[in-house]
Amino acid sequence: MVEELVRWGYLRTPRVIEAFRRVPREEFVPPSLRRYAYEDHPLSIGLGQTISAPSMIALMLESLEVERGQRVLEVGTGSGYNAALLAELVTREGRVVSIERLPRLASFGRENLRRTGYDWVEVVVGDGTCGYEPGAPWDRILITACSPGFPPPLLDQLRVGGRIGAPIGHFYHTQVWKVAEKGEEGLRVQSFTPCSFVPLVGKYGWREG
Ligand code: SAH
Repeated sequence: MVEELVRWGYLRTPRVIEAFRRVPREEFVPPSLRRYAYEDHPLSIGLGQTISAPSMIALMLESLEVERGQRVLEVGTGSGYNAALLAELVTREGRVVSIERLPRLASFGRENLRRTGYDWVEVVVGDGTCGYEPGAPWDRILITACSPGFPPPLLDQLRVGGRIGAPIGHFYHTQVWKVAEKGEEGLRVQSFTPCSFVPLVGKYGWREG
């Protein structure tokens, strides 16, 4: 899988490639789907949610430029797979907090992270559109569900010079993976690829139902 992602140009940076080599994706998908873990598809993790395709995650992480020692907030823990990759990138010198709104998925993600040795990643149940003030300011914020825009509390909790990435758009229509860098004078937004994520449901996201 990693070789293909490199060949197709999704993975470029040695540290990101190494993180992908280290994290066992099959440990983060439901047992019945393990044989598909290394195919380039999103997979169901229950409750209508999905773990993203490896190529999408590669693109997300390459575009965010996560560095060793950084403090990273993830919104949408799901399986915990992406949080494990973030943990590899920041190492124990940094901090990874991942927020999940559905308690059952938070437990699933937490358990997967524990089993694979990433027990130091903090999984919090809550509405990630409000961010996580106790850990702010964040160097990087990653939203793994589709949002109408960058939620204002997350922009407030991002340090100047920090980056936030999210699939922005409508969940039934077009979404684009966007990364914003917070400067003294405002945001510099870069658009990457069209994509398809489940909705971000919360106070500054979409309404439930
Ligand atoms: N990063 C995950 C993929 C998660 S799919 C992985 O690696 O597997 C998106 C997740 O975002 C779902 O689990 C969904 O329940 C969660 N989510 C949606 N809205 C949220 C919100 N406001 N706060 C926290 N999590 C949210």
